[in-house]
Amino acid sequence: MSEWHATACMLCENNCGIEVKLSDDGRRIEKVRGDAAHPASKGYLCQKASRIDLYQNGPARVTHPLRRTADGDYERVDWDTAIKEVAARLAAVRDEYGGDKVFYFGGGGQGNHLPGAYGVSTQSALGGIYRSNALAQEKTGEAWVAASMFGAYVRTGDFDNCEVAVFIGKNPWHSHGVNRARITLHEIAKDPERTLVVFDPRVSETAELADFHIQLKPGTDAWVLAALIAIILEENIAHDDWIAEHVSGFDSVRPLFDRVAVAQYCEWSGVDETQLRLLARRLAGAKSVAWYEDLGVQMNRHSTLVSYIHRLAWLVTGSFGKAGSQFVINPLRPLVNSNPSLARKSPVADKPLLGNLVPCNVIAEEILSGHPDRYRAMIIETANPAHSLADSGKFIEAMRKLDFSVVIDVAMTETARHADYILPTATQYEKAEATFFNFEFPHNYFHLRHPIMAPPADADVLTEAEIHARIIEELGEMPEEVEGLRKTLEHQGREAFAQAFNVAQANNPAVRRLAPVVLYRSLGACLPENVAPAAALWGVAHFVAQREPGALQRAGLEGEGSTLGDALFNRIIDSPRGFTFSVDEYEMSWERVRTADGRINAKVEHLISSIEDLANGPQAITSPEYPFVLSAGERRAYTANTIFRDPDWRRKDRDGALRMCPADAARLSLNDGDVAKLSTVSGHTEVVVEISERMQPGHVSLPNGMGLDNASGAGKLSRVGTAPNELTASGHRDFFAGTPWHKMVPAQIEAA
Ligand code: SF4
Repeated sequence: MSEWHATACMLCENNCGIEVKLSDDGRRIEKVRGDAAHPASKGYLCQKASRIDLYQNGPARVTHPLRRTADGDYERVDWDTAIKEVAARLAAVRDEYGGDKVFYFGGGGQGNHLPGAYGVSTQSALGGIYRSNALAQEKTGEAWVAASMFGAYVRTGDFDNCEVAVFIGKNPWHSHGVNRARITLHEIAKDPERTLVVFDPRVSETAELADFHIQLKPGTDAWVLAALIAIILEENIAHDDWIAEHVSGFDSVRPLFDRVAVAQYCEWSGVDETQLRLLARRLAGAKSVAWYEDLGVQMNRHSTLVSYIHRLAWLVTGSFGKAGSQFVINPLRPLVNSNPSLARKSPVADKPLLGNLVPCNVIAEEILSGHPDRYRAMIIETANPAHSLADSGKFIEAMRKLDFSVVIDVAMTETARHADYILPTATQYEKAEATFFNFEFPHNYFHLRHPIMAPPADADVLTEAEIHARIIEELGEMPEEVEGLRKTLEHQGREAFAQAFNVAQANNPAVRRLAPVVLYRSLGACLPENVAPAAALWGVAHFVAQREPGALQRAGLEGEGSTLGDALFNRIIDSPRGFTFSVDEYEMSWERVRTADGRINAKVEHLISSIEDLANGPQAITSPEYPFVLSAGERRAYTANTIFRDPDWRRKDRDGALRMCPADAARLSLNDGDVAKLSTVSGHTEVVVEISERMQPGHVSLPNGMGLDNASGAGKLSRVGTAPNELTASGHRDFFAGTPWHKMVPAQIEAA
């Protein structure tokens, strides 16, 4: 067996550093262990990483470019043909309807964000301006609230150093998001000086460890958080001096909470008022509180409102800009746009593009509208929207209505099955790859994974960087400066290259617009082949060096200006494992508050009336026809979006059971392992039942990532588990951000 290779787990945003051993033929990942030298994960890994070979050698790998035939099947074509025809079909849409009708979806999952840079170049070369990805069904409401209040993406807290840790709609035990999550949770739970708080309708694994488990009714987070703030204000324990020093507009927000009827809000939420008052005192009296909201509220009713009230809770507890509280990171590249403007709208539904992303839930309806401004072509890259977006059937119908679609991916996904062309790529272990999930503070980390194996000998796959460079060349849009830039680099070195690149950008807007592919074709051609797809990071490194030189220098990178930028880029491509690229002081968060007056803005005008509306109480979404609340997409021990297509990866819960509480099961005469019929307004399916004390009456859950269709011979597909989005409706979405209510689906359950 080979030596250990440093790489990373790509199953969640933590991207823990791992080391792997390959089989003698170099084709299989046979052993996996945590990488003790990785500065963030420090050797930690969870059970999900142990069998990543079932991703690398998954069942649905696409190994050659494929073109759809008239009978709906696919035929192999060579790369020259594929690139020529894909470019021609995209150009035809541009020429007939305008480049803005070419939509781009995806660009990366939990472990691969480099494709996005190159894919957006192709879209830009065509004149495309509308795009979206998974963030627009989870994080855009939160990001917009953060941008409105802080002028920055302020998301999570300093759980290593907090006195109190608060998780809202989040179970880090399984969904992570916190480095070394289980160790960190245990450390907080065991320390008598520290307190762990969980807001969750379920008795999650994190809730089991918690000092305070606020077990609210599903979808009532807005009422509980409003009541929490109201108690802190009513009992005069808010951090008033801190608010006076750092916050603008709080006086106009405060009366909204003075009017909250705490007892009534607790009753509506199913929460014990005494417990909530004890929690309010603990939070207000703590030296530091770290907070984290996640999909349990962000894919639920009132998601944008909850993000807002949650952040107001930070203010009354003084939870920002100090050790153990909330912070603003120094990102290598911001994952989310922090412009709170609502000026840009989607072309048909007229929905605001928060973070410049079209809400996922309106994409299909815009295509199907018949409106002249609808999207006509789609480039879908390393994403599986036909499985992951609400109402899968509607998305598939929309795909088939397009004039053209191309999927760029590793596997024959549920989305690829409906594309006109499929362009196959190297896997995440066969090419240089990275994510921009660099959310750490005060130390922040980056990891460019080097390829550790070659694609199969009989495969004809390319990296996304190469695919997009070829499409842009075929379109005739590659800036002619590329050749000169490459020669400058070869003959005069990196400094002269940097100057020439800046001049080229100034003289030709296309060089700036298509910078990732220009860098790939010029700088990338001079890099070692295994890291060439990382060429786009050169521009990113120089941008960070200009923006935050001190943070880089504190991390040990030397030089100023472009020398510092090159030092960072060299470190990126030379380090096969993660490294610390930024070291901050806690006060730096305040310098990164980019509001007009440099203070936190408490008053988010668009959401004020929604706080007032809470006084009317929760509106029931269940009915006699659909009496249960289904939480679709629960993170469990063996769930990982759709990246694992082989159901054998799951060591337990292979079918992805429907969890329900014993009382509900008894009422329906269902036993553990029984099959039940699950229906929603969008569809119905059969599910295996798991009776679980974790659920409360009326609340049931299904895991994410199940129900994938794999070929099983003779043109047939086989499926294990339920595809959750065959049960969700795209119209069930947040009024503001358009994010779906996957965690709040009215459902009916009957014995099958
Ligand atoms: S799934 Fe587990 S091992 Fe993989 S990155 Fe996340 S926490 Fe780390």
